[in-house]
Amino acid sequence: MIIVKTIAALREALDSSSRIGVVPTMGNLHEGHLELVRAARAECDTVVMTIFVNPTQFEDAADLARYPRTLEHDLALAESTGVDIVFAPSAEEMYPEGFATTVRVDGAITEVLEGAVRGRAHFDGVATVVAKLLLAVLASVAYFGAKDAQQVVVVKRMVQDLGIPTRIAVVPTVRDGDGLALSSRNSRLTATERERALAVPRALSAIAQASETERDAASLRAIGDRILQDLEVEYLEIVDPDDLSTLTTVHAGALVVVAVRVGRTRLIDNVSIPARPSPPRSEP
Ligand code: AMP
Repeated sequence: MIIVKTIAALREALDSSSRIGVVPTMGNLHEGHLELVRAARAECDTVVMTIFVNPTQFEDAADLARYPRTLEHDLALAESTGVDIVFAPSAEEMYPEGFATTVRVDGAITEVLEGAVRGRAHFDGVATVVAKLLLAVLASVAYFGAKDAQQVVVVKRMVQDLGIPTRIAVVPTVRDGDGLALSSRNSRLTATERERALAVPRALSAIAQASETERDAASLRAIGDRILQDLEVEYLEIVDPDDLSTLTTVHAGALVVVAVRVGRTRLIDNVSIPARPSPPRSEP
């Protein structure tokens, strides 16, 4: 595995005739990230992982300072999962003095949910860094996790609008045995907080299950709200998966998205409303 810290060294290390897959991360790797690597490994000749805690997408300096940084551990995991090149730039490499460009995806998809809670600078930071990373690697495919559903919608819009020649592939959310979605932030939960956080996957499953017979979004949200009543809920919405507009009646593929705070830790998660099971066929 090759480790590079500058865009110039990255370009030199890349053989543009191979099919390149890129997995953008902020490090502190877990099985969720590794699943993205496995998806890339299965489809591409060269797998690049980027590890960069992007300061411009953090609206809260304390949150940025607290973000876990575990580069040595990450490099070992990346290597054993089949990453060929790790691009781990400094903030100065990504944003050299005089840097003056922001990629902004306008419209409702960046104003709602995470954009409403974290402010519009969050998705400006995400879109700008992802655009820079995709242009640095010029991969055929970039792999993102379904866990960050709004990020996927924003990145797809940005790639389409700018004509960046990289396909965006989405990998299903990896969960712990107890249902909690893996996240670098989980390591900050105390044992009691983690126990309380399990209400999140429970609420999502309860809504998905109830949607087999109940299609009214408000009634489904009420089911989730009851399960989440001991947590600080920032939002619990059922939205269209393409434009993130709020739905009043749900359909298969609609996204149930949730953000909560458990102590000092912020967690997000989502689930897709499943297709209705077909009614049992009556015997002749
Ligand atoms: P992060 O390092 O948190 O910015 O995440 C890097 C990538 O890993 C993003 O595309 C995330 O959506 C994805 N990811 C994070 N957690 C999970 C998970 N539990 N399952 C699948 N993908 C994930």
